[in-house]
Amino acid sequence: MTFLPARVHELHSGPMKGLDIVDGHIATGGADGNIRVLSVTGRHTGSSSAHTDLVNSVAIGPDGKVASGSRDRTVRLFDPDASRTYVVGEHDHWVMSVAWSDDGTRIASASEDGTVGLWEPEGAQVTRIDLGYPANSVDWRGDVIAVANGDRTLYLLDGDGVVRRTVPGAEQLLWDVALSPDARRVAWTGRDRCLRVADVSSGDPIVVPAHTHQVWSVAWDETGDRLVTASADGSAAVWTPLGEAVERVVVPAWVRRALFHGADLYLATEDGDLRILSDNGLVAETPDPIKTPVTPESCIHWDPKITDAGYRPRCRECGSSEEPRLCVTCGHIGCCESQLAHGTKHWLESGHPNTVSAEPGAFDWKWCYADDMYVKRVG
Ligand SMILES: [Zn+2]
Ligand SMILES: [Zn+2]
Ligand SMILES: [Zn+2]
Repeated sequence: MTFLPARVHELHSGPMKGLDIVDGHIATGGADGNIRVLSVTGRHTGSSSAHTDLVNSVAIGPDGKVASGSRDRTVRLFDPDASRTYVVGEHDHWVMSVAWSDDGTRIASASEDGTVGLWEPEGAQVTRIDLGYPANSVDWRGDVIAVANGDRTLYLLDGDGVVRRTVPGAEQLLWDVALSPDARRVAWTGRDRCLRVADVSSGDPIVVPAHTHQVWSVAWDETGDRLVTASADGSAAVWTPLGEAVERVVVPAWVRRALFHGADLYLATEDGDLRILSDNGLVAETPDPIKTPVTPESCIHWDPKITDAGYRPRCRECGSSEEPRLCVTCGHIGCCESQLAHGTKHWLESGHPNTVSAEPGAFDWKWCYADDMYVKRVG
């Protein structure tokens, strides 16, 4: 397969963090707080602006209703036919991801509050599973719920929310997880730039250096024969389940989410576009492998000029006062990766390598973008 650019839909003013495609229907969620629903032919069939903050995730249910999770801490359900949105559940912190059970009787939500919620679509809470650390992504197939966590661990739960297996070993926090259509295999990605694939029941994962920047998302095709990853390096990459590189497509923006749909590849980008690429039937040239970056023992960049973020620090770009980061070179304040990643974007634009927490009195960690690690030793 070789994927060639086909169409672009400009759907959101700002990053598109949520994307799902089921039975010819597309749902998208944007940092502009909006949810959009369209057909694969490009016809808009609905939109909702009920969320009061950025939308992190959308998932289309069996009856075409769209579940969503938002920084406004709610899980909502949008019914495009009735043009109605209502609250299904509430978390104590940002909702990062939502997923449906196969039978459409439950919605799972992963939250920065460290819990996974299971809800009935009508709004009753079934259970709440405490994982003790921000949960960034949840997927559900058959009797398996998979959670990608900020503690660098993959959690595999049964359909009642009981933890059956954990797979540690990632170098950095995890961003996304996807179960294969037969629920036998699981793939996950994160900040350490790797793709991991494992059997759900047992065994060590295959670990593949996948991108030159963090990997926001991973998804399987309908047959379970192909995977696609999406990255802040501005590319999406297609893989076999054994981690063999098939193709890499490059676009002029971060790719937040990539999905297969039939012979097409759909990319949700940082600039709010839905980019569709079509398979032209030719065999792609195998892309060059990515080298695993070596994490140094200590940071040679650490040389702070500014260590005070001032009173009530806010992200200079989007105004978020939640978990801001201070650039110790110039005093820029940017939001974190779980929001709009303005701290990271500042590093990419300025080359200023080091940040610390900008929250008052919370000068308790140091980060180096150049080394992609927490600074524990200097020099
Ligand atoms: Zn460094
Ligand atoms: Zn921001
Ligand atoms: Zn700076």
